[in-house]
Amino acid sequence: MAKSTNNPLQGYLRIPKLYVLLPSGGKFSNIESISDISQELPIYPLTSMDETLLRNPDALLNGESMAKVITSCTGITDAYELTANDVDVILLAVRYATYGNDLEITSTCSECNATLEHTIQIEPLLETISVLEDHYIITLDNDLQCYLKPYTFRDAQKAALSAFRETSELNTLITKEADEMSKLVTFNKSFIAMANLNIEILSNAIIKVIIPETDDSEEITVTDNKHIEEWVLGISKQHADVIIDKLNDINELGIQREVETTCEKCNSTFKTKIEFNPSNFFDLSF
Ligand SMILES: [Zn+2]
Repeated sequence: MAKSTNNPLQGYLRIPKLYVLLPSGGKFSNIESISDISQELPIYPLTSMDETLLRNPDALLNGESMAKVITSCTGITDAYELTANDVDVILLAVRYATYGNDLEITSTCSECNATLEHTIQIEPLLETISVLEDHYIITLDNDLQCYLKPYTFRDAQKAALSAFRETSELNTLITKEADEMSKLVTFNKSFIAMANLNIEILSNAIIKVIIPETDDSEEITVTDNKHIEEWVLGISKQHADVIIDKLNDINELGIQREVETTCEKCNSTFKTKIEFNPSNFFDLSF
């Protein structure tokens, strides 16, 4: 065995291309190296190993590749604890660090419906990064106050994977030669699994619930995750939807996600939403 010595090539590794501030500022995570993300984070370009990882569709789907790439390009060890907003910013910054300022996007003109291919600049978008609030409050019509935080990358990834599985299971089911009853059983099973996961993800995003004071009792603050989960399980669909809508809004914060575009066919100006996902930012020709 060769003795481990200082590698003379150490000084020739890749260097950070830029530094970014993360939307969470480390506020919502249990990451030990919290200082890693509470200040400006160095962003390194992809290595060729990272590019290979991003081309593995299976690993990309369960988040494993993404987590590894984030660690490689930022030094953050537990990427799953980041907020989904942080991951969006990191992805865009890594794209910039690796391939430069230009990003090709496809959009549809809101006036004439033409499909347009155009190039936008990443740098101005990275200048719009903003730090999230400590919490977001929503008051339900029964006066309960919910304190919310953004989805973690872990939960966002779980939800995406579950939605994907759901779709492919349904597709298999529809084409499968089976009697209606066994189809129904399979469908119910996967539907219940998905509903349970949604409750878990929703509960994880609730920091606390405040029950306002009444004539008979003082204000009560519920922070116990088990109690919150039990409550979420039993709330009305309408209340759940109010919370989910707010969480979806929170999910979009932290960086500007729209760019103004001019249609080359009819000259009208409209806003295009940029999809923040690896297949849009990296050339993933499988
Ligand atoms: Zn047009």
